[in-house]
Amino acid sequence: MTLELGGEAAGDVDIRVDDRGALDFAVQLVKTRSVDEPGVSDEREATGLVLAKMREWGWSPTLVEVVPGRSNIVVDVPGGGPSGPILAFEGHLDVVTEGDPSEWSQAPFGGAVVDGRLYGRGAADMKAGVVSMLYGVRALQEAGPFPGTIRILALVDEEGMMLGAKHAVSSGALNGVSGVIICEPEGDEICPVSKGAIRLRIDFTGRMTHGAMPELGRNPLPTLGRVLGVLEDIQHDLQSRFGTHPHLGTTYVTPTVIVAGTPAQMNTVPASGSLWVDIRSVPGVDHDELIERIRAEAIETGVVDGIAVDVTVIDNRPPVDTSVDEAVVRCLVDAHSRVTGSPPVFGGVPGTTDGTIFTRDAFIPTVVYGPGGKWIAHQVDEFVEVEAISRYALVYALAARSFLAGAC
Ligand SMILES: [Zn+2]
Repeated sequence: MTLELGGEAAGDVDIRVDDRGALDFAVQLVKTRSVDEPGVSDEREATGLVLAKMREWGWSPTLVEVVPGRSNIVVDVPGGGPSGPILAFEGHLDVVTEGDPSEWSQAPFGGAVVDGRLYGRGAADMKAGVVSMLYGVRALQEAGPFPGTIRILALVDEEGMMLGAKHAVSSGALNGVSGVIICEPEGDEICPVSKGAIRLRIDFTGRMTHGAMPELGRNPLPTLGRVLGVLEDIQHDLQSRFGTHPHLGTTYVTPTVIVAGTPAQMNTVPASGSLWVDIRSVPGVDHDELIERIRAEAIETGVVDGIAVDVTVIDNRPPVDTSVDEAVVRCLVDAHSRVTGSPPVFGGVPGTTDGTIFTRDAFIPTVVYGPGGKWIAHQVDEFVEVEAISRYALVYALAARSFLAGAC
């Protein structure tokens, strides 16, 4: 895919994306089974392919170990032009499980291309995005010198606890970066906002006793039930206070798991019970305040019943609310319009991305925009349109060029 731009505003530029090379590389990456699964997560084959491609192009990538056997790739591609800012592109190399392969119409790690679509687990989420960022930056580099530097991050464990993104921030891989484009699939929408997420565990401790003499123990289950009601009230309050975000919907406080007692011991009052909660928030919801409120109200509910209540925060990812006036967003909007011939649609990310961690821990503006459908990720017969891989590469190249030149 080629873009030739003339005129004083654009400067003369002729950006050519290697369509064939990009598709071949995407097929190769989809064929690596880099599934994120407890105990056996392994992105090494995919990481090796990306490293080899970067070295083939004369780049000097660094491999940074996150946990044994799992390493981030970080590489700087200097423009060779005037000094300027650093723009980063980010993608992850892990994928979720393929589930039952017999439910797929194409082999999940076969890399089949059928009717203009590349099929496979990770085709959209997000090996296509990784390929687009690599081939976009390569095309820009081959088009001639540009100001500033592009940093590319190909990370591990996004589908898990985002260890790769957390390690990237703590190890300084985001230092000096002025904006990040997260190349996750969002169905052609530019997404400057993402929902926040909190994962909590609430433990209830009472005293075990015989079911025939419940008065001799303290049953944690009625307290657990009352706390479910408390959570519903808090959800209702948040929904009425923060309303419905145009791109993200509303806030949910969702109990997802309860563990207490055992059916084989149904004549026994258990000593303890636990409740897991998945919270999804819109911009404006203060996570620390919300966690403290849940803690205080749950403990108070337990006090009345003589049940000790303890709240553990498993993960806390605040919402992302990047302004559409940020240069990184404006440059993407402009590049998208010029490549596709029509203005982009703005949207929001229903889940969280590595960008959530970058914004939370490194305070850098992030925006999510990448090839592939928003809803096809994690499903059977996941695919990406082949055409989108080169198109996104071109948009990335053009957006980077404008951003680094301070042109938007
Ligand atoms: Zn993803």
